[in-house]
Formats: sequence, structure tokens, C-alpha cells
Amino acid sequence: MATIFSRIVAGEIPSYKVAENDKFYAFLDINPLAKGHTLVIPKREVDYFFDLTDEEIGEMQIFAKQVAEAIKKAFPCIKVGQAVLGLEVPHAHIHLVPMQSERDMLFSNPKLKLTAEEFAEIAEKISKEIVCRN
Ligand code: AMP
Repeated sequence: MATIFSRIVAGEIPSYKVAENDKFYAFLDINPLAKGHTLVIPKREVDYFFDLTDEEIGEMQIFAKQVAEAIKKAFPCIKVGQAVLGLEVPHAHIHLVPMQSERDMLFSNPKLKLTAEEFAEIAEKISKEIVCRN
């Protein structure tokens, strides 16, 4: 059965899309640690991040870098933090979180509750800042 993230890529489940190319897709995490918390996924369905090929990890990281740069412009922060967990959804993904302090990367923190309008505004703000270099 397709993962929830593959169903998002297929358009069967809605998402707040931030960026996309032929191999990767970026969208807002629905339970964000901070405004701008984004997930980057490969369209190819692989559970464990480190089971992706070397080439895929390289390309995914370059795509994530472009998304992180856009997040930082849209939501000024000290740095955009990156994390790979994958204990909840069995489809490899990178979390990108704008950080004002180290605490913003604590996944045990309470998540923000945002309205659909707020999510849509955030996604649009980030997507406008995407500069695709490939
Ligand atoms: P983890 O697998 O532990 O890295 O966590 C999976 C992440 O995916 C969590 O932060 C969830 O909030 C997020 N998530 C799960 N379902 C969706 C969805 N339908 N849209 C956006 N984010 C989701």
C-alpha cells in the first residue's frame, strides 16, 4: 500500500506544497514545530533514509538546500535546522525547521496549531522564495 506521502505526491491527499521537481517534493509539516517547518521527500517510495542511493541522497540534499534557503528568506531565523527521524511515516523525509534557538528542534515540543489559511500563506511565502538551480 502506498505511504501517506506517496498519496500526497499523487494528489490523493492534500498538502501545502512548497516546491517540487521530477524526483523530490517539499510540503509543510502538518504538526509544525515552527512556522515554516517543511518536509522534503523523494517521490520514489523508500522507508529508511539511508536506504536511498548515494546519488538520491546527494540530489535530495541539494533540493533541500534550495528549500532551506527559501525558508530562511521567508521566515528570518538564526539557521534552518535539518533532522531525519522517520519513526512515524515510513517514507524517507528530511525535516527543515527555522530555528531561533536550539529548543526549536525538540520534537517533543508542543506543535503549533495553525488554520488552513495560515498554512496556505506560509507555503506561498516560502514557494515564492524558491530559486531552482537544477
Ligand atoms: P517522523 O516520521 O517521526 O519524522 O514524523 C513524520 C512527520 O510527518 C510528523 O512531523 C508529522 O506531523 C508529519 N506528517 C504526517 N502526516 C502528514 C501529512 N498528511 N501532511 C503533512 N505532514 C504530515
